[in-house]
Amino acid sequence: MNATEATNYFFSKAARLLDLDSRVEQQIKAPFREIKVECTIPCDDGRLSTYTGFRVQHDNSRGPFKGGIRYHPEVNPDEVNALASLMTWKTAVVNVPFGGAKGGVNCDPRTLSPCELQRLTRVFTEKIHDIIGPNTDIPAPDMGTNAQTMAWIMDEYSKFHGYHPGVVTGKPLELYGSEGRDAATGRGLLYGAECLFAEAGKSVGDFTYAIQGFGNVGSWAARLFSEAGGKIVAVSDVTGAIRNREGLDIPALAEYAARTRGVVGFPLAEAFPPEELLAEECDVLIPAALGGVLTQDTARDVRAKYVLEAANHPTLPLADAVFAERGIIVLPDIYANAGGVTVSYFEWVQNVQQYTWDEERVNSELKRRMAAAFGDLSACAKHYGCDLRTGAFVLAITRVARATALRGL
Ligand code: GLU
Repeated sequence: MNATEATNYFFSKAARLLDLDSRVEQQIKAPFREIKVECTIPCDDGRLSTYTGFRVQHDNSRGPFKGGIRYHPEVNPDEVNALASLMTWKTAVVNVPFGGAKGGVNCDPRTLSPCELQRLTRVFTEKIHDIIGPNTDIPAPDMGTNAQTMAWIMDEYSKFHGYHPGVVTGKPLELYGSEGRDAATGRGLLYGAECLFAEAGKSVGDFTYAIQGFGNVGSWAARLFSEAGGKIVAVSDVTGAIRNREGLDIPALAEYAARTRGVVGFPLAEAFPPEELLAEECDVLIPAALGGVLTQDTARDVRAKYVLEAANHPTLPLADAVFAERGIIVLPDIYANAGGVTVSYFEWVQNVQQYTWDEERVNSELKRRMAAAFGDLSACAKHYGCDLRTGAFVLAITRVARATALRGL
């Protein structure tokens, strides 16, 4: 099953529960527009290289299209399509006035120099500038991109359209970015987990954690969960995996990983094969890397009681069924990692109003929105007697379907 089929599977499961009007279903399931561009750039050694870029705009019934741009060797139309659709449901779950989109360039950013990355970003922006904009489609960072990438996109876009900082979010603070945006996905995950654990009378400090991925989301999650008293016992990234039963020293690990570009070799831990991370002994598993890692087989080996989906679509439908059967509670991606787009919304609001918020305000508004969304999705799950993922899809589809119907089919 590919990523689009998996996303549509979850969509249809919720649509059936809702008894969704088939005409509305047809309207909101398919993407609005899919764009493919070829980006040819001169490399530092004088050769030319061509990279394929995509932007899929899924739905804009609730507001401008919104979603990240990823640079990764596995970027392909199926993946970008699924991710764009997930953005529609994600913005609806946290009730920010945006739709869903996603973009990507098929490249390995680790092998490109900063100059090459800048050229690639400018060419990609040049090719999509007429379909993005602060009121039409607002990109943001995703895997392999960051605040610097957003600064280049904003600058390139301004050559065609003038001053419009709200065309992208996740920008550097010096260039119209928001306090708290960098940590927002990890912080939103923490606030979501607090709501989830509170239902069982528990708190973050009661559990041990294994985290797959130590990029922006994984490393911030590690830092914030450990600051909240959680014990991080295992972490992996592209370089390998490390563990320490007593708990990893996260500030020291973050400093080490930034310096050596990976977690492997961290002296205060034991190395182990990264493919064993998902089956590591822990209370809470946090997949914060690629999609599709939890399959029927890997799900059977999971030893955690909770799975917090920091990554987008880490769990395939058959794995979801295994978790349900084994009583493992999953906090679904379209809620769990929505802190990023929520603070993107705050950044966009600040850009539009030309007024900046301090970090305390950003974090407290994020907390309030994550708590409200948890209340809404958990009420849906209880009402329909379903799991949290289905509850989140029910909530999102209800909101998108209502907006679509009100606009008139
Ligand atoms: N790329 C992030 C996500 O998948 C953030 C998107 C955004 O802020 O627009 O949710």
